[in-house]
Amino acid sequence: MIKHLGLKAYGKINLGLDVLRKREDGYHEVRMIMQTVGLYDRIDLVCCSEPGIKVETNLYYLPNNENNLVYQAAKLLMDEFGIKHGVGIKLKKFIPVAAGMAGGSSDAAAVLFGVNRMFGLGLSMEQLMERGVRIGADVPYCIMRGTALSEGIGEVLTPLTAMPQCQVLIAKPALSVSTRFVYENLHADKLKTQDHPDIDGMVNAIEKGDLCKVAGLLGNVLETVTIPAYPVIGHIKEAMTRYGAAGTLMSGSGPTVFGLFTNPKTAAAAYEQLRHGRDSGLAKQVYLTNFYNRRES
Ligand code: ATP
Repeated sequence: MIKHLGLKAYGKINLGLDVLRKREDGYHEVRMIMQTVGLYDRIDLVCCSEPGIKVETNLYYLPNNENNLVYQAAKLLMDEFGIKHGVGIKLKKFIPVAAGMAGGSSDAAAVLFGVNRMFGLGLSMEQLMERGVRIGADVPYCIMRGTALSEGIGEVLTPLTAMPQCQVLIAKPALSVSTRFVYENLHADKLKTQDHPDIDGMVNAIEKGDLCKVAGLLGNVLETVTIPAYPVIGHIKEAMTRYGAAGTLMSGSGPTVFGLFTNPKTAAAAYEQLRHGRDSGLAKQVYLTNFYNRRES
């Protein structure tokens, strides 16, 4: 048994997000292009002799009980395998919270991976993914990582060729967007053809490694709801375009916006502008990172 594991839980962005329909059970059927980025939360997993799961986080407003997804991930495997030891989980958040970057799902994915390793449970990545979906639709993807097409409610995954490297500027305005609000106000039947991103075209461009084409095809149907409700999201996109982004998009249900930059110097200058320059009032959190394409932990 391993006593301590240091884990990294990487965030994701959506290069494409389309909603096909609302199912009878209330879930939405989606087609998304997922991409892991180099921004990560740190998780320390410690094995203790006394039973139970103890969660500590650096953010006072996050739950440290069974409502935290890391707790749920540890409990799921510990119950199934009758693990008598306890675990301590120290979570240090860097991925913006409730921002459309799947931070919580990625933390859960890392803990599933870590508990499997710590107690030698012998589960394969596929078996971890099967269990992960019980915690959240994005958890299987967060176990898989890299560039992927995600369908169904997000759990039907097809790995794609890794994207060529590029700089990703991430900016989150100081507001929270309820995912529920966005989906409730998305009327899939009323959308126009041009509201839907060309997911098949993007899969094609990714398979060819054509970054410029990918940047030109970025599209998220949820922007039709979120941008009119929160215009600052549109203002951040405009600023990034002005500073030379090849493409910009809102990730998930927002409010995080990202810009893709093919030139590292242009990306660094855009980061400075959003962080300290004329447009520093638009976003509260700004990060410059890149695509993270390693699939193994
Ligand atoms: P998605 O992209 O999947 O919609 P998100 O970025 O919108 O995810 P998260 O950051 O994962 O949202 O968290 C949303 C909510 O889940 C938070 O408001 C928080 O109360 C709760 N939560 C539970 N566990 C975690 C965790 N480990 N990290 C962040 N939030 C968590």
